[in-house]
Amino acid sequence: MNCLFCNSTRINESYLPSTIYNNKKFDYLRCSNCSLIYLNPVPSDEDLIKMYPPSYQNGVDRSILNNPNQKLIGLRYSYAKHFDLLRSINFKGKMLDFGCGNAHFIINSNHHGFNCDGAEFNPRHVSVLNNEISESDFFSVDEFFQSELKYDLIRLSNVFEHFTNPINMLNQIKSKLKEGGYLLIEGPIETNFNFALVFRKIYFNLRKKLQPSWIVAHTPTHIIFTNHKNQLDVFNCLGLSTIHYELAEAEWPFPQSFSKAEGLISKLNVVIARTSMILKKLNKNWGNTFIYLGQN
Ligand SMILES: [Zn+2]
Repeated sequence: MNCLFCNSTRINESYLPSTIYNNKKFDYLRCSNCSLIYLNPVPSDEDLIKMYPPSYQNGVDRSILNNPNQKLIGLRYSYAKHFDLLRSINFKGKMLDFGCGNAHFIINSNHHGFNCDGAEFNPRHVSVLNNEISESDFFSVDEFFQSELKYDLIRLSNVFEHFTNPINMLNQIKSKLKEGGYLLIEGPIETNFNFALVFRKIYFNLRKKLQPSWIVAHTPTHIIFTNHKNQLDVFNCLGLSTIHYELAEAEWPFPQSFSKAEGLISKLNVVIARTSMILKKLNKNWGNTFIYLGQN
């Protein structure tokens, strides 16, 4: 399968072990041209239904964060970071959170004076959102793409890495932006350089050498594993101009603290993650979390 970013056929094995899911083997390939690592094959509709059953979305979260600077779980920035970015461009328009989940960001951004709608994949979940949140409009992704609606800003948080056809999806999303509209994307950037990644690569490569039949059994929800260079190439190729791009280092998926780490390996992982977070300060291009703001 050609590279999901640059369509190159110069493809090799990556350091990531294959995984078995839904009785199928999924490999992680690496593009020699742009260094993207991607899942092969991409999950079928049947795999996706199993990965994201209707119960996957757990309703609506109307809670307002007392402190918008609060660090959120996983590879993402605080809501305050998003609000500051929006204020830095004097944003007054209407935005849409694409892949809005339980609508927590929408509730919080409306509370802070912004005006945000949402799109989600599961139509049943969309009707729950529409019933419970009257101040915003919610659409299924199909509805949204088929509509005439255009937005001043579309936000994708922890969504990009799940796209099975990232270039096509970004083009469709871009077509829903008004002229001069903004695309705001954040999430993991999993093959970008950081100190912890060096350890992971050494461990995975060594284990693959020692145990060639090594296969794991995790759910392959992430399809693309990017770095800052191939990301920016893709965003530039879309015709967007970069307004802001920033990388950070979070401890995830390692435990947040020593007290939460059980066993020696886990504690060692905390040390590696902490060291990686400190060393990140040496280079702005290092990190495992990104936020991008581009203009149409
Ligand atoms: Zn490529």
